[in-house]
Amino acid sequence: MRSLIKAKSETGIWMDEIATPELGHNDVRIRIKKTAICGTDIHIYNWDKWAQDTIPVPMTVGHEFVGVIEEIGTEVKGFKVGDRVSGEGHITCGHCRNCRAGKRHLCRNTVGVGVNRPGAFADYLVIPADNAFKIPDDISDELASIFDPFGNAAHTALSFDLVGEDVLITGAGPIGIMAVAICRHVGARNIVITDVNEYRLGLAEQMGATRTVNVSHQSLRDTMNKIGMVEGFDVGLEMSGVGAAFEEMLEVMNHGGKVALLGIPSPGTIIDWNQVIFKGLQIKGIYGREMYETWYKMVAMLQSGLDISPIITHQYKVAEFQQGFETMLSGKSGKVILDWS
Ligand code: NAD
Ligand code: ZN
Repeated sequence: MRSLIKAKSETGIWMDEIATPELGHNDVRIRIKKTAICGTDIHIYNWDKWAQDTIPVPMTVGHEFVGVIEEIGTEVKGFKVGDRVSGEGHITCGHCRNCRAGKRHLCRNTVGVGVNRPGAFADYLVIPADNAFKIPDDISDELASIFDPFGNAAHTALSFDLVGEDVLITGAGPIGIMAVAICRHVGARNIVITDVNEYRLGLAEQMGATRTVNVSHQSLRDTMNKIGMVEGFDVGLEMSGVGAAFEEMLEVMNHGGKVALLGIPSPGTIIDWNQVIFKGLQIKGIYGREMYETWYKMVAMLQSGLDISPIITHQYKVAEFQQGFETMLSGKSGKVILDWS
């Protein structure tokens, strides 16, 4: 089968023919229709320190996908050949305390598809049936292929009550931009999003942001004054992974505010803990998606009118994967989709 492989310990990604993966008793074999490129895939492409320390070479990468089940293991229940599915890229152990309590997103033994084991950038993906998620007919292949990052946005945004609240999102990457649409959909009042990338802030505006702030030359405080915000933000969603953005978020949170952290800061990032303590802030770390409450909510929100389609800005045939990666690297994109049909 065709596969996009991290074949060498250097910058890049390569297309090659490899054997189709074997199917276990509890697995499903999925024929991939569309995949999307994640920021993680860019780290792997760039072969940064994290990628060098994490990714076995050679390996098929990728974890954002939609496809059709072509074969099911003998023990699989609840799926049939022909089901259109996306899938949860975090494979959990099933026997730790949290897994057994139904809190699989808190599994301490999580293994990542396309990170620790072969991924979805291929004609076929084999994953445990437990990790497949059936996609209703009224949701397009394009949207289904980005359920993984959409789920990061949903898990983070839905961590706290947003009805009537003023929300600050730091980082207008694809996930931050989708979070804007979710906050709007569920009834937030002011949604302010920051970034240093004008193209992405434009997309965030299209998705319903009250105000966008380019922190390289605009002041967040000025923006708050202009929209009549007096006390500070009620909810903060950190989606940049940039320490300075988190620091500024803490400064503009209201007392008793709630902060969800999705962005992954570099080790040693320092913040002013006094902001947390004297304001009585609540801080929650977010990893992945809740299995499968977040997935259920994603479907329910799309079916109740949430529109995240503007985040898909580029689509290529998989043969043009190099162009797809270069588009992502340019920063002038939302989600980039590769078509395997
Ligand atoms: P991304 O890298 O595309 O987006 C980050 C954005 O932050 C970029 O648009 C960048 O321009 C912007 N930025 C840079 N400096 C900034 C500043 N000072 N203030 C505000 N914004 C600034 O990433 P993404 O794919 O949208 O993911 C968002 C973050 O979430 C990343 O840090 C990613 O590593 C992390 N992530 C975490 C999980 C998890 O499970 N915790 C899952 C997926 C992604
Ligand atoms: Zn576990």
